[in-house]
Amino acid sequence: MKLTILGCYSATPRALTNTTSQVLEINNHMFLIDCGEGTQVELRKHKIKFNRIKHIFISHLHGDHFFGLVGLISTFRLLTRETDLHIYGPKGIKEVITLQMKLSDSWTNYKLIFHELTSTESQLIFEDDVVEVHTIPLNHRVYTNGYLFKEKEGNRKLDMNLVEEANIDVAYYRKLQQGFDVLNEDGVLIANEKVTRPGKKAKSYAFCSDTMYKEDIVPIIKDVDVLYHESTFLEKHSHLALPTKHSTAKEAATIAKKANAGVLLLGHYSTRYDSLKPFKEEAQEVFKPVRLCQDGKVFDFS
Ligand SMILES: [Zn+2]
Repeated sequence: MKLTILGCYSATPRALTNTTSQVLEINNHMFLIDCGEGTQVELRKHKIKFNRIKHIFISHLHGDHFFGLVGLISTFRLLTRETDLHIYGPKGIKEVITLQMKLSDSWTNYKLIFHELTSTESQLIFEDDVVEVHTIPLNHRVYTNGYLFKEKEGNRKLDMNLVEEANIDVAYYRKLQQGFDVLNEDGVLIANEKVTRPGKKAKSYAFCSDTMYKEDIVPIIKDVDVLYHESTFLEKHSHLALPTKHSTAKEAATIAKKANAGVLLLGHYSTRYDSLKPFKEEAQEVFKPVRLCQDGKVFDFS
C-alpha cells in the first residue's frame, strides 16, 4: 500500500502548495482521492500513468477538493483515453461536470460513470476480489464523505514441506490456499492450519477530510492501519474550526486514538501557518504515531 500526496493544503493553490489530492496504490489499484486544481500537473510530475486511474473518489464539492476534475477529464479525452472512468462523489457532481462538457461541446469518447452519493450512513460503494471501499459520513458545511479502503485477506500460504509430508494431492492446493480442510491421498482429513500459514495481512486506509470533530466515525474506521484526518487548524484557532466545520490537530489525534489507528497522517492545513511542526507536536500530546503530509511526499506502507 503506497500513498502519494499530490496536495494537502486547504483553500487555494499557491506557488509552492497544492489543494487536496492523493493517489492510493493498493493491491494493483490506483485510486485518486479528491482532485484539487492542478492535480493533473502533479500526476505528471510523479509520472503516474493516467490510464491506471479508473476510479476517482471526491469527498465534497468545495472547490479545493474537485476543481481539478473537469480539467483531468478533458485531458484524458485529448489523450484519446478509451478506459472507463468511475467517479464517486456527492449528488450534483454529475451535473457540474457534464454542464461544462456540454457548453464546451467536449464530450468524452470514453465512458464516464458517475456514482452519486446521498446517504448519511456508511455504504459499501466498490468491491472486487482484492479491495473494498466504504464511505465515511463526515460533518462539514456541505454534504461530505470520507473513504475507507480495505484490502481483502490474502490467500493462506502453503508450507510445502508439511503439505508433502501430509500426502496431499496437488489438485487440493488451491482449496488449502483458500482456507479449506482437505482429504489426503489416504482419505484422512487434514486440518488447514496444520499445513498452511496466514497470508499477507490485509491493510486499510481511511481518508477523512473535510470534517469537524465527529466521534461517530470511530466504529467505521476502528483499527485502521493508516488514518488521514484533516487538521486545518491548531487548538489556538479552535474558534475558527467550529464555524467552518473543520478539525484541529488535537481533535484529529483524538479520533486516531479512539479508533486505535496504526498511524495518523495530518493534512489540509490552513495556509495561515508558516510551520507544520506545531501540528505534529499538538497531535502527539494525544497520540504518538503521527506523520505530517507534505505535497509530493510518498508513504510506503507495504
Ligand atoms: Zn471543504
